Amino acid sequence: MSEPPISRDFFARDAEEQALFLHETWCDHCQQLNLGMRDPIEYELHGIVFIEGRCCQCGEVVLTELTDDDF
Ligand SMILES: [Zn+2]
Repeated sequence: MSEPPISRDFFARDAEEQALFLHETWCDHCQQLNLGMRDPIEYELHGIVFIEGRCCQCGEVVLTELTDDDF
């Protein structure tokens, strides 16, 4: 069973929060923390909020999973 993701508006967050999420990333491809991401989109899937973007260094997809504590 696959549930469609529910899109959320990343840009509705306040600027400080946006900057934080864009900075605090983990890139699987580079195996490095906090390289940053560009072109962020935000969505919710199975009750979990994700912010997805492109790694600033390699351009691969990076995904940040938000736990309840974050929002
Ligand atoms: Zn990367």
